[in-house]
Amino acid sequence: MSVILETRDVSCVFRVSGGFMAKKRSLHAVNGVSITVEKGSVLGLVGESGCGKSTMAKMLLGLQAPTGGAVLFDGEPLGDMDRLARARRVQPIFQDPYSSLNPRKSIEDIVTLPLRVHKVGGPADWSARAAEMMDLVGLSRRYLTSYPSQLSGGQRQRVAIARALAMKPEVVICDEPTSALDVSVQSQILNLLMDLRQELGLTYVLISHDLAVVEHIASRVAVMYLGRIVEEKDTETLFGNPQHPYTRALLASVLTPEPGKGVPDAQLGAAFPNPLAPPPGCMFHPRCVKAMPHCSTTPPQPVPSGDGHVECHLYAPARKNVA
Ligand code: SF4
Repeated sequence: MSVILETRDVSCVFRVSGGFMAKKRSLHAVNGVSITVEKGSVLGLVGESGCGKSTMAKMLLGLQAPTGGAVLFDGEPLGDMDRLARARRVQPIFQDPYSSLNPRKSIEDIVTLPLRVHKVGGPADWSARAAEMMDLVGLSRRYLTSYPSQLSGGQRQRVAIARALAMKPEVVICDEPTSALDVSVQSQILNLLMDLRQELGLTYVLISHDLAVVEHIASRVAVMYLGRIVEEKDTETLFGNPQHPYTRALLASVLTPEPGKGVPDAQLGAAFPNPLAPPPGCMFHPRCVKAMPHCSTTPPQPVPSGDGHVECHLYAPARKNVA
């Protein structure tokens, strides 16, 4: 498979006000991230709130310019493309279909919005495309004259998917696509996304804190912590043999399917650190059960592991025997 989307050492630094009379400080939302996404695959991007997932999503969509490195689409910098070229390549599906759909617009207007914004075709084309998209996402065409408030949560997310696909993009960035939905409709939406991927040859970047969803549909997984990818592997290897202590803690925090066992201890003793004042050395060291003295002073480097990498001193060549 060929690489369709790639980031090379990409960073995004925000200057944040420190308060009245205080100096502005730098927030490294994304800090030197390199990922590749192969055509037709699903890359799962997981991590806690504040780890940089949403900033990554915005950069992959061309909505946020990186402050360092580059985002490449088919080898071409995304930042060099005009808005129409970008919109034809990559589209988003957002978390909350309640807030991402304009309540005053009809479903037809919502689904065809990208075509109208980018002036692709005319009114007759837009109506035809809207009907085609409704068929594609399994919604009756009669809803085209309805408004979002007349639809259920699952139906609204189908509308959001129809809108994302109206431009016939190659890549879809799915930002927590099911987390605002009832459990009963989550699997329907996930199955729809997987069917569409098969049918249209789509590539997904799936941003989620729900590891069960990621395990179900991702081909590869990247685990993000304070702006860094700390482990990246194919899904089976990562879930079967997690190496980074943070990945292990994340997996341990997933609800067990056995009744009565409850939520296992995530082993993350300390709270998620303030991204404005990240810990020195390995940024995970205040929460790490395996931390060693030099972890608090020396940042770990990525170490090749399996077909990906892990970023932890435990796996540095001289220390492999103690992992
Ligand atoms: Fe833990 Fe040290 Fe590895 Fe960081 S480098 S994850 S603190 S063992």
